[in-house]
Amino acid sequence: MKNQFDLKFVEKLVNSKYGIKAKATQIEGETDDNFKMSNDDNSFFFKIYPAKTKIEFVQFQTKILKNLECNINTARNVVDKKNNFFSHFIDEANDVRYVRMNTWIHGRLWSSINPLRSTIREQLGFKSATLLKDLQREKLTYERKDFHWDLANFEWIKSYYKKIGLNKKYLLTIKQLLDNFKKNRKKYNKLRKWLIHNDLNDNNIVVSNDLKNPKIKGFIDFGDSIKSQLINELSVTCTYGIVKSLNPLKSACEIIKGFHSVINIHKEEIDFLYDLILMRICVSVVKSCLNKKLNSENKYLQISNNDMNILFDRWSSLNKELATCFFRDACSLSPISNEKKFKKLIKHKRSSINTLFQNSDLRNLKNLDLSVSSNWLSNELINDVDSFEKKINFEPNLIYYGGYMETRVVYDSEDYEKLTDSGFENRTTHLGIDFWVKENTTVHSIEDGIIKVLTNDKTIKGYGGLIIIEHNIENVKYYSLYGHLSNQNKSKYKVGDRINRGEKIGEIGANKENGGWCPHLHFQIMLTLLDFEDDFPGVCMEDEKMIWSSICPDPKLILEMQTNKNTHFNENELKNLRTRFLGSNLKLSYDLPIYIVRGFNQYLYSNKGKKYLDTVNNIAHVGHQNINVVNAAKDQIGLLNTNTRYLHHEILSLSKNLLSKFPKKLSKVYYVNSGSEANELALRMTSLYSKSEKFIVFEGGYHGNTNKTIEVSNYKYEGEGGRGKSENIYEIPMPDKFRGKHRGKDSTNKYYKELEKIISKASKSDEKISAMIFEPIISCGGQIELPSGFLKKCSKILKKFDILMISDEVQTGFGRVGEKYWGYELHGIIPDIVTLGKPMGNGHPIGAVVCSEKIAQKFDNGLEFFSSFGGNPVSCKIANEVIKEIDSKNLQSNAKKIGKYLKESLNKLAKKHSIIRDVRGTGLFIGFELVNDKLVPQAEKANYLVNRMKEMGVLMSTDGLEKNVIKIKPPIIFSFSDTDRMLTLLEKVFNEDFMHKG
Ligand code: PMP
Repeated sequence: MKNQFDLKFVEKLVNSKYGIKAKATQIEGETDDNFKMSNDDNSFFFKIYPAKTKIEFVQFQTKILKNLECNINTARNVVDKKNNFFSHFIDEANDVRYVRMNTWIHGRLWSSINPLRSTIREQLGFKSATLLKDLQREKLTYERKDFHWDLANFEWIKSYYKKIGLNKKYLLTIKQLLDNFKKNRKKYNKLRKWLIHNDLNDNNIVVSNDLKNPKIKGFIDFGDSIKSQLINELSVTCTYGIVKSLNPLKSACEIIKGFHSVINIHKEEIDFLYDLILMRICVSVVKSCLNKKLNSENKYLQISNNDMNILFDRWSSLNKELATCFFRDACSLSPISNEKKFKKLIKHKRSSINTLFQNSDLRNLKNLDLSVSSNWLSNELINDVDSFEKKINFEPNLIYYGGYMETRVVYDSEDYEKLTDSGFENRTTHLGIDFWVKENTTVHSIEDGIIKVLTNDKTIKGYGGLIIIEHNIENVKYYSLYGHLSNQNKSKYKVGDRINRGEKIGEIGANKENGGWCPHLHFQIMLTLLDFEDDFPGVCMEDEKMIWSSICPDPKLILEMQTNKNTHFNENELKNLRTRFLGSNLKLSYDLPIYIVRGFNQYLYSNKGKKYLDTVNNIAHVGHQNINVVNAAKDQIGLLNTNTRYLHHEILSLSKNLLSKFPKKLSKVYYVNSGSEANELALRMTSLYSKSEKFIVFEGGYHGNTNKTIEVSNYKYEGEGGRGKSENIYEIPMPDKFRGKHRGKDSTNKYYKELEKIISKASKSDEKISAMIFEPIISCGGQIELPSGFLKKCSKILKKFDILMISDEVQTGFGRVGEKYWGYELHGIIPDIVTLGKPMGNGHPIGAVVCSEKIAQKFDNGLEFFSSFGGNPVSCKIANEVIKEIDSKNLQSNAKKIGKYLKESLNKLAKKHSIIRDVRGTGLFIGFELVNDKLVPQAEKANYLVNRMKEMGVLMSTDGLEKNVIKIKPPIIFSFSDTDRMLTLLEKVFNEDFMHKG
């Protein structure tokens, strides 16, 4: 709102009243004229009240601050020259205008914080409750009749809400809220009343300037304070504290939890929370519509209108009863109030599996582990119902059962996934017990009851035929759910029918009619139907399972069966065991490491069922646990695994396939077990060939973890703990056109000159150099593409001086670079030796050295070459399958196509975020730098980025000599939609405060 007062006037006024010389700047406000007064020493908040403001109100405001002198999160009154907490002057219209001043709380506003994480929300709850407690020190009150912002006075809205053009959903909701409020008025009036702040909105909460872990510094503006129901305060705080959250219920619970840790919230209060939050949202929207009409130029008055509309949609679509369960849990109460009573009563009125199936042959029960880490559930079975069924029927006299509160990976259809503040998340945790019985098996009611739901759920991977029956023990209702039945259109029953214990209610459905599953019964118990009319969730989010286990108790309580507990580790146990057993320089990724128990294609899954899109693990080249590769390994390991001292066809078949990918010159292959070993062997071969131990290497190069390979890896020997460069090593500076020694246009020549210098110096002193080892794109060094034409130029001089070229393709080989099968081909050269590793076995340890006939001959100097494992039938079979997968699925061209799209998308993102520079690489071997406008590397931001992306379900990594490069090298089955998903989340993180402020 435009202030009435000239800033110079305000400055003079402050000086005359307070003796403070300070510059005034205007602050937006609802009705008052507010100013920030600043000089070199201090800042203050100065307020001029509107004409006709009651003196009692001004007194009340100053008394509040006085009362809160013990609270570190509030401002202090500043007294005028006469030692008064407030003062006044007469304005041009001859009206008395009260003024007051208080200290300034430095920081930024809650509304500007991105991201808002659970820690700060919990802190908001905690601090707001502390504020409330402190507010009660002295009994202060100020009567406000018909105050629109007092939720206890919500009925005022009745006369307005239909006249301001609100849509139907608002009209219905407000009517419903008014009705509920009327109905429960008596209970509401009995709730405790306190003096409350009543307006902890996102512009009244001051937060520290720390961009990574902001803390709450203060609360301002007590202008709406009032004595009202205490729960209103929490409702208001929640309303604004969850604006913009994609998961407002979870966010509200974080605030509630913090609040409850200071002030014990009563269960009668919790019952009103959902409606009160919705009421506050509606008041805010209605007020802003009214203000728009009355006062169209005051933008402050409409400040949160848009966000509130979105919050209204999100909040009003929640299930109220479920929300209340969540609130109760946040207040350490059992989410369902009659849970204890039910558990006590059901002990004396159990049913049994024999009742459920009416078949005494069904006693051979065996627990089936379908958890994320289950060995029984191979990836193949997840989407192959027939194979799953075959495996289930493998033992004919056995009924598999299980799954209560089990976290699984099988729920992968869209219906189970949503975008939350933590990225894309799946419902994964199973709420019932499954019985894997044949289709057409009859199913019987476990107890007398009334049919509440009888339907066909048509969603993919849904229930198919579904029946829910209501039961009653001593006035405690509970429900039994029977899912994956046959088509219920054929049922003789209808909703409302009475059913006796043991009465047949349906049959197990076939795959076509049961939601697309292998036939089984999903049996679940519920203590409420929540507000569901024709459905009920059978799976929940893993982090909500404590709440859901109260709503859906363990069916074993009723069915009298053995509990089979699967033992699983947790992250902390594993961390402790690592410290005990493993060396501490064996590092974990991420600030909070993750426990990964399953891989499938481009995804890794944690023990908690969280699905991570993998953009890091290039080793899983054709996809984690690629089904064909896994089967090849299984087949061969069950048949034979020996060494190369016997004749075997697999090593020869692999060699033929592998060598067909190389030019004629490269015609011999040696097999080892890793990239390091391959390079170690290559260096030994070149040393023998040229009788020299001298090598040319690249700054930033990495070639392995053995003695010799570390000696040629600048990345290691110059890195932390490294021994420095050995005398026999000659270094070419990092050929980085962006931030390297030579940049821009002529960099090819300039880097070439560096090589020339090395060679001419060596030849002058008669030193023989054995080989130059290089990566076609320098990987660990930061995804550095060599300047164009550089290697080609090098190859000529190297040939002239008989210096061999070793192309380390451990990262770049096997089609990853898209354009070509091998990285060296990008440069139009043919090296003398090529080393292979990582992707070759898709995770299985195998490496190779491919070289010319001539080098192979020299290598055979009488010393036998033997590697116990190198070239064994299992490894060869696997590598053969990897090559086959790349060819048969055109994965090289996929890498090219997706890589191009990825690079274009990243370049678009870079246009919006200047910190992203030099998007580089080729195929699915991409990197980009994070630098500031002076090209200073931003390693901390890179580290923040990968940790945030991990939290949101995308695995990324940093690298480069300054750890400011984000590397992207996913399995080459990566798709357009994977790219989009990654980009959506990257964009989200790049918009976060730490990435672009400060
Ligand atoms: N060369 C390059 C280019 C590499 O990136 C690596 C591993 N990061 C190696 C060699 C060593 O491979 P390994 O870890 O399989 O021994």
